[in-house]
Amino acid sequence: MVHCLGLFLCKKLGGESHTSHPPEKNGGYLPSQHKNMIQFVAVILKEIFDQGREFCWKRPSKCPRCGSFKVWGHGFVPAFFDGFNESLLLKRYRCPDCGCVITMRPASHFSRFQASRSTIRSALQHRINYGKWPPDLTSARMRHWLTNLKRQIKAHLPQSWRSGLMAAYDHFMSMGKVPVSRSI
Ligand SMILES: [Zn+2]
Repeated sequence: MVHCLGLFLCKKLGGESHTSHPPEKNGGYLPSQHKNMIQFVAVILKEIFDQGREFCWKRPSKCPRCGSFKVWGHGFVPAFFDGFNESLLLKRYRCPDCGCVITMRPASHFSRFQASRSTIRSALQHRINYGKWPPDLTSARMRHWLTNLKRQIKAHLPQSWRSGLMAAYDHFMSMGKVPVSRSI
């Protein structure tokens, strides 16, 4: 049984390559990337991997963009996650009223990241505590997380911030931001 939290933590996708589409030409609509939303749901990746298209996603009760109750299945999008050699199929839904496409993503992972949120946080914490990266992940990737976190701090926190990197990480999380996002 799948427990879906129904978190409507929907975000605009800032030009993510595998879900973005060419802008519409027919005026009157926002650029199409603004119609793409993510809904984070509590799911177990192994179950998605094992069951593929048969996995029981919970259909959004309404469109997160316009509130319409008509939300239809709209195929799948492949996504890679650590621990799986093949891509996993993430379910998409579409609202026929406003055209919004909703991609279901695991709440355990930030959008566009293959490592889980907890893996990223613990890797950074390990680096700060011990001055080196944990041995089980590629250090290049982890260095990117740290570089991005520092960029986020520089861009969004006051110069007087003295609470440290992990407090900043948690602060960004509480604001609904991705602390290790490359985009500012
Ligand atoms: Zn809609």
